[in-house]
Amino acid sequence: MKYCSECGHDILDYRIPKGDHTPRYVCTSCHIIHYQNPNMVVGCLIVNDGRIMLARRGIEPRKGYWNLPCGFLENEETVQQGAKREVFEETGASVELGPLHTVYNLPHANQVYLIFLATMTDPHYHLTDESTEIGFFAPDEIPWDEIAFSSNAFALKKYLENGEGKPHPTYLGSYFKDKIR
Ligand SMILES: [Zn+2]
Repeated sequence: MKYCSECGHDILDYRIPKGDHTPRYVCTSCHIIHYQNPNMVVGCLIVNDGRIMLARRGIEPRKGYWNLPCGFLENEETVQQGAKREVFEETGASVELGPLHTVYNLPHANQVYLIFLATMTDPHYHLTDESTEIGFFAPDEIPWDEIAFSSNAFALKKYLENGEGKPHPTYLGSYFKDKIR
């Protein structure tokens, strides 16, 4: 952080404020404490006729890899709205949400993923700037070596382990230093 987003001052201390437990950027002019918290990534695991929708990423990071449609939650948006919006932005598909399927922690990246089960409300979808290819994969066709993110691989693995058409609990996963737990 180089400038105070409140007053524009360019000298910030990085220190533990009184009564706090972790260092924060503190403006030396207006004294505001800049709290920084994890971002939420929301998306959907869409199942259509026993096949799972994956979109090939047209943008970095992990351009060219397959992922479940997902992206950053916006301000003033619920996680449900965000998940549906991300699907529409990446694939043009409209979906109805099922239960929350995956909560996945990425502490080193300051992100938490929330992935819902979902079904398409109509058969329409299309390519977008964010997705160069859209595919529907049967369980034995999942391109495991080309899945963009460990969060996606975790959600897919748990879904397939439990089985299609079965009730799914919410799976809690984390990624710590090259290890999925
Ligand atoms: Zn300031």
